[in-house]
Amino acid sequence: MSKNWICVNDSQHVFDAQTAASNGYFCPTCAYGEGILVEGGSVTSQATSDLGLCIMVLDCSGSMNDAAFQNSPISKNELVARSVTAGIYSLIGNSSKEFAYMLIIGFDHEIDILLPFTNLETIFRDYPESKVFEQELLSKMKVKGGATDINEALKIAFNFTQQFINSSISSLGNYAPRVQSVMDNNFELHNIPNVRVLLFTDGGQYTTSGERILPSPFKDLSFDGKNFDLLMSAYYGEVGEKGYSQLLSLSSKCPSHFDTDQFFLFDDPKKVANLKGLFRMASGASGFCPKCLEEANTVTTDNRQ
Ligand SMILES: [Zn+2]
Ligand SMILES: [Zn+2]
Repeated sequence: MSKNWICVNDSQHVFDAQTAASNGYFCPTCAYGEGILVEGGSVTSQATSDLGLCIMVLDCSGSMNDAAFQNSPISKNELVARSVTAGIYSLIGNSSKEFAYMLIIGFDHEIDILLPFTNLETIFRDYPESKVFEQELLSKMKVKGGATDINEALKIAFNFTQQFINSSISSLGNYAPRVQSVMDNNFELHNIPNVRVLLFTDGGQYTTSGERILPSPFKDLSFDGKNFDLLMSAYYGEVGEKGYSQLLSLSSKCPSHFDTDQFFLFDDPKKVANLKGLFRMASGASGFCPKCLEEANTVTTDNRQ
């Protein structure tokens, strides 16, 4: 049976699997990088489905091929591919796999879809061996290796996110974003879509057209007439580097922890154990900030006892 891939901007833009793959899962009819393709019928036929979404936006620039630590044979690419895979596969026992969607975007100076919009159930079915998933992800990351266009990557991720939470992606059928209640410091409850976007980079904006980072489009993300910033940023490097300040400038404060940025710093090999936790938190569209991650880790530890 041939599968149809449909543009999120225009459901008349339909392509077969081969054309979709050869265009990197972007619509060849729309302007470059503007129409993400999703698989027709990929969403369950139930009348109304509440869907969760995690978009991972991964740096695949040349520097990601460098060693993750001094005197280590592991590259940053390899570390990320392994941590993403571990994070996703830690959800294998999750009861709502069918309704939890992933989209993995890789960027250097160009944007590629590394994993098209897919639910966790399909990932675990198509890749029963997590090792195979990891290898495939890593090999797609490695073919890139150019400059670093964070602005464009965020723009594409933002457009998809806003369309998704507006329930305007008609090829997904009759769906709504799953909603969760988050309590703020004033004990006020907010309804927030179960959607997270995680930007991971080891450097700042760097393209032939300049090094200026634009304000994050996610600050204007709106749901139900309110603004909720669903972007988390993770920087692999040192405090004080240009990329560090740029990424921090993109971050908003966590809705549950008013004093904490939705920002993660990996500047020490000891913190790398937390990478898996961060990617699991993003995959499960649960927390927002390092304090959320700490609380999630505590709960996981308690459950194991
Ligand atoms: Zn299109
Ligand atoms: Zn938090």
